[in-house]
Amino acid sequence: MSILELSNVSVSYGPVVAVHDVSLSVPKGKILAIIGANGAGKSSTLKAIIGLIKPRSGEIRFEGERIDGLSAPDIVARGIALSPEGRRVFPRMSVMENLTLGGYLQRDKGVVSRTLELIFHHFPRLKERRSQAAGSLSGGEQQMLAIGRALMAQPRLLLLDEPSLGLAPIMVQEVARVIVDINKSEGISVALVEQNAKLALKLSHEAVVLESGEVALGGTGEELLTSEYVQKAYLGV
Ligand code: ATP
Repeated sequence: MSILELSNVSVSYGPVVAVHDVSLSVPKGKILAIIGANGAGKSSTLKAIIGLIKPRSGEIRFEGERIDGLSAPDIVARGIALSPEGRRVFPRMSVMENLTLGGYLQRDKGVVSRTLELIFHHFPRLKERRSQAAGSLSGGEQQMLAIGRALMAQPRLLLLDEPSLGLAPIMVQEVARVIVDINKSEGISVALVEQNAKLALKLSHEAVVLESGEVALGGTGEELLTSEYVQKAYLGV
């Protein structure tokens, strides 16, 4: 069963077609990786899902209901959250303030503090640094904060845009571990956009390759890891 389904989705910016006729689905409780080169349409796909851009055509269904055409806040309220490319934490605000912003839709204080505890459980480093300005965190810690902030919305589907970008190798492994952990222990479904194909395919259950805005290939993470085409084009084998 899928938690999210895109059917023939196209996105354009004026005359530029960024996503063309894309169909894909995120299996419930699993991790879908979306890999592809620069400009392949990965971010645009996530932006269309979360409602930051309106698809020109096609349908997007979350838990069986159409969400394309809804506003981003409405989509977040339904249970999807995005950790954007480049992290975009608020540098002058504290770690705690950044996290609190992510939970702004939740009025129940008890739920907010339980969610915070859960995030601190997955990211002990953020707990230690909760009073520190977000801008003073390392790149990896800021990435953790961006993921934590998205989790504050208590999503059933988490969208991650390039979480490994610009991180030191050891932090890349740490972020990967946390993504798997959140998926396993919380049962949150994940759509993971990555240029680091190897990393994404290793930790995903299903995967698709986007090329020039179209789905070129799909399969399990394992199938794509061992595909000769993927190895040549994306894994440098
Ligand atoms: P990257 O990893 O570099 O972010 P991507 O796979 O996420 O790449 P997109 O950012 O979705 O790709 O871009 C897909 C295409 O749409 C590219 O050709 C890009 O130049 C174009 N594009 C993206 N955003 C805009 C925009 N705001 N206005 C015009 N064109 C855009």
